Amino acid sequence: YNVPTAVNEPILSYAPGSPERAELQATIKEMRSKQIDVPMYIGGEEVRTGNLFAMTPPHDHQHVLGHYHQGGKEHIQMAIDAALAAKPAWEAMAWEHRASIFLKAAELISGPYRQKLNAATMLGQSKNAFQAEIDSACEIADFLRFNVQYMTDIYKQQPVSSKGIWNRVEQRPLEGFVFALTPFNFTAIAGNLPSAPAMMGNCIVWKPSKTAVYSAQVLMEVFQKAGVPAGVINLVYVSGPAASEVLFSSPDFAGIHFTGSTGVFQDIWKNIGNNIHKFKSYPRIVGETGGKDYIFMHPSAPAKEVATAITRGAFEYQGQKCSAASRAFIPASKYDEVMAYVHEDLKKIKMGGTEDFTNFVNAVIDEASFDKLASAIDAAKASPDAEIVAGGTYDKSVGYFIAPTIIRAKKHDYITMEEELFGPVLTIYVYEDDKVDETLDILDKGSMYALTGAIFADCRYAIEKLVKRLTHTAGNFYINDKPTGAVVGQQPFGGGRGSGTNDKAGSMINLLRWVSPRTIKETF
Ligand code: GLU
Repeated sequence: YNVPTAVNEPILSYAPGSPERAELQATIKEMRSKQIDVPMYIGGEEVRTGNLFAMTPPHDHQHVLGHYHQGGKEHIQMAIDAALAAKPAWEAMAWEHRASIFLKAAELISGPYRQKLNAATMLGQSKNAFQAEIDSACEIADFLRFNVQYMTDIYKQQPVSSKGIWNRVEQRPLEGFVFALTPFNFTAIAGNLPSAPAMMGNCIVWKPSKTAVYSAQVLMEVFQKAGVPAGVINLVYVSGPAASEVLFSSPDFAGIHFTGSTGVFQDIWKNIGNNIHKFKSYPRIVGETGGKDYIFMHPSAPAKEVATAITRGAFEYQGQKCSAASRAFIPASKYDEVMAYVHEDLKKIKMGGTEDFTNFVNAVIDEASFDKLASAIDAAKASPDAEIVAGGTYDKSVGYFIAPTIIRAKKHDYITMEEELFGPVLTIYVYEDDKVDETLDILDKGSMYALTGAIFADCRYAIEKLVKRLTHTAGNFYINDKPTGAVVGQQPFGGGRGSGTNDKAGSMINLLRWVSPRTIKETF
């Protein structure tokens, strides 16, 4: 069978007066006016514990959108049991039927569930309408449709045979269950991490971020409506330590699909290592983690383009993309010009709640993140090695608002040049124009991460040199563009070094991690 050719979901504009804007605003209003009760979903059943936690918009933290039921270790065990019970029928189902379910999920997201998913992301994760549309509606539909296509390509790839011999490869799902641990910053990633391994015939225990429960609930509704059978994807809300204790001591633990912080991923890896003797197979460990993503401006580059890349690359979604620019290297000869454009851009930016579509910057995800960012800003204000050259204010009285902030580091190893903050704070290091090589060394060695990076130059020799010199500094590398906004099917996403296993989300490479091929030679 040939599946429908995947094409990227068209992005709606939400222009004033457009029908999609009216529909989204009405959905937001309705969601704000009631409180929902969110159960866990285990084996197709709704599970309520009565241990309730409130869901609040980060930009309006006194408003309650609803409550979710938190479970304990026993619920993780129930989810594992449900996944294992569902597995035989699911893996025996012909692949085209699995494909159909996920193609239907993509249709539901691009149609009837579009505004519900966008609104849940806007209210629950404080993402503005345009960012939510790109992430929730479009990217998840893209993940589903492109993955279905890659899945069929994987099944079709077969070795050569010869007279009297038929060689073939059977792509078996992993033996056991797969754990999907998903982040708050992209609803699309929260949808992709369980669905990609499920598509390949695996059954999933899914634990989303506690700061993205509303959109996870809507995604689960979509999966169910699309026909994902009971037990194939089990959604649980359980604390990290309780979940780890049960998951990583189960002999049936077959793999983890993770996006989140580097620290958590490394702890998980150690935990898996400590338990390695318990598992039936070596678990697949697939993770995308932190970044200290850069913009490197060559002296030949135009200042205006670099300034736009800074404001968009560093401050869209409050800098809470793993791909967000958080350090920039600017030549001394261009610094004043770049900053003049940046200040011009920042003057146009409004900050506030997501309900007002004219706000470009919204709140950061929670109080812990706010406090961390505020103290980094205070430390920069107090340090002789740093200077705040834009923003620097913050206020958590209504929501967790941090103004887009730029720190100028006087030393290349000032702390915010090297450590990830995950918020709307960019650090600039100004280098002498004749010190390009030394600065590239600093860029390369100054961070443990290698997720995204962008270079700006208007000279082909310079571009060639930078591309070669920076080979291992980024898994997604941009020439003359901001380092965010990878599109499924166009720029497969993932990084190396401390940024993850680089198994490129939304690609054949990723899907291959969820199968264990059996090579069969049959002799006639
Ligand atoms: N794929 C997203 C981008 O290119 C980033 C994903 C993430 O933050 O994990 O901007």
